[in-house]
Amino acid sequence: MLISIDGIDGCGKSTQVALLADRIGAERIRQISPSRWGRTLRSTLAPTLAQQLAWFTADRASLVDRLEAAASSPDTHLISDRSYLSGIAYQSYDSGLSPRFLEELNRAIVPEYDLQVFLHVPVEQALSRIAQRGEAVTWCENAGLLTWACRVFETWAQRRRNIVQIDGARTIEEVAEAIGAVVDAVAMDRLGDLSWQV
Ligand code: ADP
Repeated sequence: MLISIDGIDGCGKSTQVALLADRIGAERIRQISPSRWGRTLRSTLAPTLAQQLAWFTADRASLVDRLEAAASSPDTHLISDRSYLSGIAYQSYDSGLSPRFLEELNRAIVPEYDLQVFLHVPVEQALSRIAQRGEAVTWCENAGLLTWACRVFETWAQRRRNIVQIDGARTIEEVAEAIGAVVDAVAMDRLGDLSWQV
């Protein structure tokens, strides 16, 4: 199974990716991988839109073999901390590029995910979690951008059957339980197999 957890910064993605990976015995990856282009993206303080698109796309292309091996597989599970869905939400902000165009660009190389969880947390709550984390706010953590991204995630969750919105403003355990239930439902639907349900 190929699964991602997407949402705005501070919504709890990393926390839930770790819990879900343990629960179903999945390998974890991050949207920005340690490839040459991923490293370039991470080390650039404020990349231009063109640089973001080029480096994200090149980095994703380097992951495609692993994504394809996991997609719809009954025994290989890959959980990604963010997917191209986050690119649709973030790179369409104030850029003149439509979310639909960005989706098409990514789907030209990336296989369909079995499940993309949109972890929804109000922007103020996410920003407060980021502040509590004690890390510097990065170029992608301003309120205008996060509000836009949230709206795109919500819209896409309504439009795509494999994107499921989950309320992330609950306790870590409650959110993990909700994600686990959706993953189990998708696994049953796809595989008719409960082998990795706890
Ligand atoms: P993201 O990966 O989306 O940026 P993290 O998983 O790093 O988010 O979580 C951001 C911060 O909020 C961390 O300090 C984490 O411990 C905390 N956190 C995560 N989920 C919850 C939750 N459900 N309730 C309260 N705090 C949370």
